[in-house]
Amino acid sequence: MIPVQGLSGKTVAVLGLGRSGLSAARALREGGATAICWDDNEAARDVAIAEGFTCTNLKKQGAFDDVARLIVSPGIPHLYPTPNSIVAAALKAGVPVDNDIGLFFQSFGTPEWDSFENMPQVIAVTGSNGKSTTSALIHHILTHAQRPCQLAGNIGRGVLDIDPAIDGEVVVLELSSYQTELARSLTPDVAVFTNLTPDHLDRHAGMGGYFAAKRRLFAEGGPDRAVIGVDEAEGMFLAGQLGEGAADDRVIRVSVEEKLTGPGWQVFARKGFLSEYRKGRQAGSIDLRQITGLPGAHNHQNACAAYAACRTLGLAPRVIEAAFHAFGGLPHRSQTIAQADGVRYVNDSKATNVDSAAKALQAFKNIRWICGGLQKEGGVEPLNEVSGDVIKAYVIGREAAQFAMQLSAETQVCTTMADAVAAAMSDAQDGDTVLLAPATASFDQYDSFERRGDDFIAEVTKRLEQA
Ligand code: ADP
Repeated sequence: MIPVQGLSGKTVAVLGLGRSGLSAARALREGGATAICWDDNEAARDVAIAEGFTCTNLKKQGAFDDVARLIVSPGIPHLYPTPNSIVAAALKAGVPVDNDIGLFFQSFGTPEWDSFENMPQVIAVTGSNGKSTTSALIHHILTHAQRPCQLAGNIGRGVLDIDPAIDGEVVVLELSSYQTELARSLTPDVAVFTNLTPDHLDRHAGMGGYFAAKRRLFAEGGPDRAVIGVDEAEGMFLAGQLGEGAADDRVIRVSVEEKLTGPGWQVFARKGFLSEYRKGRQAGSIDLRQITGLPGAHNHQNACAAYAACRTLGLAPRVIEAAFHAFGGLPHRSQTIAQADGVRYVNDSKATNVDSAAKALQAFKNIRWICGGLQKEGGVEPLNEVSGDVIKAYVIGREAAQFAMQLSAETQVCTTMADAVAAAMSDAQDGDTVLLAPATASFDQYDSFERRGDDFIAEVTKRLEQA
């Protein structure tokens, strides 16, 4: 655990008692603060009470009178579409609002570091898609290279649950826009921006707010190095804003769409080959086509970002390449779960938005595509632009018929995963890929995208065993 520094003897309110809220309360207590907790859900409050925390209804008049700070969980809106009433009350009372990430950055460095030969470092990863894969891949490379490291944030442990850093350790953090928007301290040594496409727009009042939330990781912290995907205008803009000019190698530009040139530091992937250029010279290259854990251009983008982040730490290209080969991929992200009779089964249940599903459609051929669920705003048109390799779509979800009508590929309305898998498997021929890439949230039929992916795996496995 990272005990929270700077709030000893103070009272800090914690709103939301899920994983991050409880871990913040514990770290506050460890650092000598008094945490007063609240969650509208009684069961969540009971868990906190069982750990000895006081639960106080933060909705009551004067609740913030002696409170030094309010810590808010990422699922609770602090501004858009409308501020949660407790957050609004804290702001009105002039109480600073923060989250576990802010507490982490304010507390990570300790006087003990004075005796370290190598300062611990934080690599923070944000972006619309690929955050988990990129963070896990960086952590995997560091582990493979036998560097001390920990993985935390949205993936791995809660940020305040990690162990205090040891000499030379690297902490890899995956951060969402909700987290970067609210954290009062954001000071990574290396910050990574994978890409930007519309998502969570209701929470950020549109694309501008969404970009601004992610951009804080670079603007507020002033990282020593910034690894930035420049395939969208926002990334290009950010890279330009952070550097003093094209030769400034504090910014490493990453692309999977074009060969990047110029005097600075660039990593790009083209036709399955990763290239690194620095000061106009090639500094490294890797054939990504043979790396089974990272299929498709989207994963090549993640590979480039992870490669660049590790290069800033001085790791050699060959060391990174060896680690790539040993990377098994993450569950529910372009995960090959079975191969039988020449048919490949891929679980990409984490494709919860149109962009990530579009990337999956571009990564495979002869696709029997299981899609549908709780649709997000923005429409499915981009999917139709890249569904050339789709033989047929098997549509699931409560509104499967309506979703199917929007697709240009041939469709079959299946509604349930069981029916979709059965239909896709009975149609599949040698050389086909049965791909779950829903392009939607899962909440109309499942608790989470993980449950949806697990259901897909269970249906496929059951049928393969029966065959
Ligand atoms: P995040 O943590 O940002 O949600 P994940 O690594 O969990 O990212 O991947 C989420 C989804 O996006 C998965 O469907 C995955 O296959 C897809 N994906 C992964 N990397 C990228 C990328 N660089 N660009 C677009 N989609 C991606």
